[in-house]
Amino acid sequence: MKTAEIAQLLNEPACAHNRNEKSGCARTKPGATAGGCSFDGAQIALLPIADVAHIVHGPIACAGASWDNRGARSSGPTLYRIGMTTDLTEQDVIMGRGEKRLFLAIKQAIDDYAPKAVFLYSTCVPALIGDDLEAVARAASARWGVPVVPVDCAGFYGTKNLGNRIAGEAMFKYVIGTREPAPIAASTQRPGIRVHDVNLIGEYNIAGEFWYLAPLFDELGLRILCTLSGDARFHEVQTMHRARASMVVCAKALLNVARKLESNFGVPFFEGSFYGITDTSQAFRDFARLLGDDDLAARTEAMIAREEGAVRAALEPWRARLAGKRVLLYTGGVKSWSVVSALQDLGMTVVATGTNKSTEEDKARIREIMGEATKMITDGSPKALLQAYQDYQADILIAGGRNLYTALKARIPFLDINQEREFGYAGYGGMLELVRQLALTLESPVWKKVRAPAPWHVAPAAGKAPAPAGETHA
Ligand code: SF4
Repeated sequence: MKTAEIAQLLNEPACAHNRNEKSGCARTKPGATAGGCSFDGAQIALLPIADVAHIVHGPIACAGASWDNRGARSSGPTLYRIGMTTDLTEQDVIMGRGEKRLFLAIKQAIDDYAPKAVFLYSTCVPALIGDDLEAVARAASARWGVPVVPVDCAGFYGTKNLGNRIAGEAMFKYVIGTREPAPIAASTQRPGIRVHDVNLIGEYNIAGEFWYLAPLFDELGLRILCTLSGDARFHEVQTMHRARASMVVCAKALLNVARKLESNFGVPFFEGSFYGITDTSQAFRDFARLLGDDDLAARTEAMIAREEGAVRAALEPWRARLAGKRVLLYTGGVKSWSVVSALQDLGMTVVATGTNKSTEEDKARIREIMGEATKMITDGSPKALLQAYQDYQADILIAGGRNLYTALKARIPFLDINQEREFGYAGYGGMLELVRQLALTLESPVWKKVRAPAPWHVAPAAGKAPAPAGETHA
């Protein structure tokens, strides 16, 4: 990839970071882990496309250290969960065998798994030695008649966010617009209901959370042409250009796809979130608004009234258990405010929120929701997080998986909110799961046990013999 192309991707005009200073684009500091490389970002953006063979062209460590790092679920094929790599060695580099290995890897993937397409991810080593992924992809596609898509995403190009955009660019260049959607099946037509085709961009179906929402889309007559990329199939990505509206679910990832769908094919888009009752309802309202269908708008309001009523009633018994509990939230981007509103819906108090990866717009939204005096944390080091936990007298830390051991070592309740989590929190149904997990975490008896002095530090009761020497601990 040329420097000018990278600069163009970094300058995404639809990204809020392009206004004001680019405060959301985290700069790496020497010695500090700052998230994945571009390869990692591209791979996690596309890996959930379930019927594709994803081949990582590079040394084993690139694929080995990153495979399956996002808990995206599929309702059908599971090919995406098979880690494939060319496993380049020093010998391959010295002998110039990289492209040949890649060609044979594509053959093996097609012979063994009959994928709908093959995606090739470049990494640092083949990019440095000049392997031509595009040429290999073209030759392999012509030879075996299967679409082969090169994703030029060497790690040294930049950050994970840039990788997301590179992935979007590859989809736009090679996949989107190469097929027409299937006609709407007669069995799914309902009298008086006009079906609209829509896209969801940046929704990853983490822990299957989108399945809370899919039936509501069906009910409203919104046919999802493609979810890029949770539970997606290759042929769905090919048809995205025919949607009537798109929703960008995660503000930063794949924004370039939404913008180009709008400028090249006239598909309007909006940014939204499925976390919390208020935001979920707003997302459905935005679809109705963008599609300009009055009947859809009326049915949407009726559905929202029914769903909100049901979920608020179901949340009521939990409210007393969680009300007033103080939360320290450390996550990034859109989740820094969307999760705040979800927690406030439950009567909890968010004492501070992390804004390390948030845009100026995200921060403005946080102030709007939490008030001007909101504490925003930019330092996510374990020491700073634990200090903030104590200073603000929080009851629970809600953060990404990489903070798990910080919390456990400090013996404080912790809930994983990021992509590696085991439970889905999206939509109205997701709120119930969120409340259940919060209560389980906060009320777990383990906290009392681990904070109590160890038995060997407690003086024996009068008349009771101390533990035998072999049973004492240092
Ligand atoms: S930085 Fe390069 S070598 Fe490291 S994981 Fe990313 S692509 Fe592989």
